[in-house]
Amino acid sequence: EGGISSSLSLSYAEPIAMSGGGLQFMYAYDGKTYLDLVNNICHVGHCSPKVIQALSRQAAKLNTNTRYLYPSLNRLSKEILKSLPDNIERIFFVNSGSAASDLALRMAKQYTGRETVAALEYGYHGNTASVIEVSSYKYKGKGGSGKPDQTIEIPLPQEESGEFSIPPHNPPAAIIAESVVGCGGQIVLPEGWLNRLFDEVHAMGGLCISDEVQTGFGRVGDKVWAFEQQSLNPDIVVMGKPMGNGHPIAAVACTAAVAAQFENGMEFFSSFGGNPVSCEVGLAVLDTLVEYELQENALRLGDLLKDGLTQLAAKFPIIADVRGSGLFLGVELRDPESGKPATEFAHILLEEMKFRQVLMSSDGPGNNVIKIKPPLCINRDDVEAVLNRLSLCIPMIQRKLAASKS
Ligand code: PMP
Repeated sequence: EGGISSSLSLSYAEPIAMSGGGLQFMYAYDGKTYLDLVNNICHVGHCSPKVIQALSRQAAKLNTNTRYLYPSLNRLSKEILKSLPDNIERIFFVNSGSAASDLALRMAKQYTGRETVAALEYGYHGNTASVIEVSSYKYKGKGGSGKPDQTIEIPLPQEESGEFSIPPHNPPAAIIAESVVGCGGQIVLPEGWLNRLFDEVHAMGGLCISDEVQTGFGRVGDKVWAFEQQSLNPDIVVMGKPMGNGHPIAAVACTAAVAAQFENGMEFFSSFGGNPVSCEVGLAVLDTLVEYELQENALRLGDLLKDGLTQLAAKFPIIADVRGSGLFLGVELRDPESGKPATEFAHILLEEMKFRQVLMSSDGPGNNVIKIKPPLCINRDDVEAVLNRLSLCIPMIQRKLAASKS
């Protein structure tokens, strides 16, 4: 309706018309309140007061661009770089995770003079032309036209010793990878595997790009960045989504050497990237994270939720795996007899949980992994409510599906 393309998709058989949001909740026009376990963009909570105040205060005062001086740009840059390894010294602001991945690839190609890029199977890094080319989630998915020649697709390992091979005659400009493969279904990689892959790319003279668009800013609980969990050493870090809590700000952080190669005289300019309103928003997100100890909350509540889910898995064999850390969790559903992805079950579960006012999403090649990535401000009551409702829904769906088959 209204000229909106059919390539956009809506959640649920009967989509929800939302009227408002507040911290971990969303409010629908029909009066229902939903607990939001999907939105990893509203990182510190829907309409988080400090963020909204910072945004409106600055929007009422001045919005311009990086061709003028304003201290919030340098303050935000410093705060973010402080959280990254010492060799990551430069930052470029843009407006979306896609723009950030795109810029990261451009930098890597310029640095190495190469065109080939390696990326993980089931990876997703954004919607621009160059980034779709390294997003197997898209080029192999519905409507995709397959792997482009200049992309090296690294199959995900089944075990720690999982082999990968990068053709030595075609060394890549870079490898781009999430440390936990989000769109692939919250896939936690075996210890040491990504390190070996990064080492191999480095040895070939390529760069390593960590995509932290979903996982960054404390979501994984024990660390600010997911790549730190595996002690990876990226040359470029891409970040977005949570950075502006819904306001479009994203960034590429990189080593001084990568930035120096990029600084070849051509101006870099993003009309909106790092504008004063975005910078105030970014700083308010960081302040809120610290003030309400939200990374610690992600760790505590994530552990609690994961424990509860693991207990459910012991009770209900349809749950084949519970994985992830902090508030970036995945619950994989498989038919216990055939071992096949329980795609239909997952679909019904999302609808039943929606009926019980909990929003969840599914992903992975079989669309059978329930993804849990709520705003970091959820509390114990929320975790209990989710576990109770899941333990009600799962046996009910099992009975329903069994009855429909008999
Ligand atoms: N990288 C990853 C890992 C993502 O999940 C996404 C968005 N889902 C992007 C990049 C692209 O971000 P955006 O939608 O802000 O362009």
